[in-house]
Amino acid sequence: MTIPCRVLMVYPKFIPNSFWNYTEACELVGAKYPAAPLGLITVAAMLPKHWDIRLVNRNTEPLTDADLDWADLVMIGGMLNQQPDFIYLIDLAHLHGKPVCVGGPDVSSSPHLYADADFQVIGEAEQIMVHFIAAWESGERKGVFIAEKFKIDVTQSPMPRYDLIKFDHYLFIGVQYSRGCPFTCEFCDIIELYGRVPRTKTNDQILAELQALYDHGYRGHVDFVDDNFIGNKKNLRTLLPRLKAWLEERDYPFEFSTEASINIADDDELLQAMKDANFFAIFVGIESPDPETLVQMKKKQNTRRNIAECIHKIYGYGMFVTAGFIVGFDTEKVSMGQAMIDFIEETNIPVCMVGLLYALPGTQLTRRLTKEGRLHKGHDLMKVEQAGDQCTLGCNFDTKRPLRDILVDYKAVLRHVFSPTAYAGRLSRLAVKLDRSDRRRDLPDGDMRKRLGGIDSVHGIMRALPEVREPFWKTFVEVAKTNPAALRYIVMLMALYMHLGPFSKRVISEIDRRIAELDGMHPVRATASSARARSLDATGNNHLSNEQVSAVNS
Ligand code: SF4
Repeated sequence: MTIPCRVLMVYPKFIPNSFWNYTEACELVGAKYPAAPLGLITVAAMLPKHWDIRLVNRNTEPLTDADLDWADLVMIGGMLNQQPDFIYLIDLAHLHGKPVCVGGPDVSSSPHLYADADFQVIGEAEQIMVHFIAAWESGERKGVFIAEKFKIDVTQSPMPRYDLIKFDHYLFIGVQYSRGCPFTCEFCDIIELYGRVPRTKTNDQILAELQALYDHGYRGHVDFVDDNFIGNKKNLRTLLPRLKAWLEERDYPFEFSTEASINIADDDELLQAMKDANFFAIFVGIESPDPETLVQMKKKQNTRRNIAECIHKIYGYGMFVTAGFIVGFDTEKVSMGQAMIDFIEETNIPVCMVGLLYALPGTQLTRRLTKEGRLHKGHDLMKVEQAGDQCTLGCNFDTKRPLRDILVDYKAVLRHVFSPTAYAGRLSRLAVKLDRSDRRRDLPDGDMRKRLGGIDSVHGIMRALPEVREPFWKTFVEVAKTNPAALRYIVMLMALYMHLGPFSKRVISEIDRRIAELDGMHPVRATASSARARSLDATGNNHLSNEQVSAVNS
């Protein structure tokens, strides 16, 4: 007997002040949020066919009382940066008398925070949804379902329910080819959640997912949301030529981005295959310019190479790089701030996610800090009133260097890296290196990024942020003359500055507040610290500018 069930799937709001929300860039092309909720539409595909499903993404549309009243069951999934709204939604559903089932990365990492939910699905959902469904259909109204770690066969993962998505709400759509990463970075929760043996879907499976997107009429940017796209190079080598052929047959409906470890630069053949398969951007975790710090964080793969050369090599294949950097490691030296600035300038990476080290639940880092008695109470709790991400909320542990010094360095890096002149300078130098000469220039009809390419967009950006007018215009004119094939990407990266510029200012003012708070709480230490910053500046050992140091101390 089939028992009908009306399921309301809700994707919680991300915290508002996050590096990743790119609100202003979304507005420029008429989108509402960067990415669609791939996890929830994958879980939706695991539910019985006779269940009725409605999806509400709280980042793009309102959740109404009528939605909640309609539902027999509310399912919610999300990440750490969605935690405050996630917990609020559990209460809201209960107020409407609806049972709640929760899952996703934050529930899997910190199930104790979601104890009020009626059902918890912990770990990768594929293996255990069937048990949840059986329990629900047999009338149970409480339960915890725990997946055996890293055992899910992703070749059995169903086709995500793309039919539940409103494509025009998003800057890009995600697909997932693999899960897991072979490396051991101490701060990383990916390897704790998905393991160190990357598991890939079959080529037919991922091409079928792309075909489904194509058949739904989607055109444009598709992001492979893999933890490390090159985690299983052997399988990837067989996929990329097929992806190229698939694109050619359909006149290149999609352009791809992904995330990969820096050793991608060792492999010319793989870079060429990615270029042929129309990849245009790669996110790389660089974290620190200091080899000793990279060894301490167990990111040894970044120590055996000249990273700047690796990045420039990737540009030569027509793909630009965005990167993550972290401040706050135990082994950092006083000179770290300037070293990070120099490194970012040398690599010409425009979009740098520079954050403070944040001990994520369940990681090696968190375990070590717990053992050392350094982890702060409530380290896994994201409070509503804090409303920030690792850029403002790290370090959530007792640091080895004085926290004030770390914050001062961090602020100096942000101040430099996101100044309009430095950002535009990196864009100009990136354009010199970004070889788009034998790439297609035209985007397919229906790609919302078509609204972004030209001079009107640049005027829109300059109107919104008058302070960028001079450097951005200079870069635009230069690139239009010298490398017009790269111009679209340079304008795209200028559009991202509409978020990054104001965001970095907000982070700096929050860091100022934290420094003032530290000064208020520890006047003796703060004075010593300020004196030290001044003396370092005077002796030239710290290469931060006078302006930076005095701004910090003022
Ligand atoms: S390379 Fe990236 S995904 Fe892999 S362990 Fe390191 S931080 Fe995690």
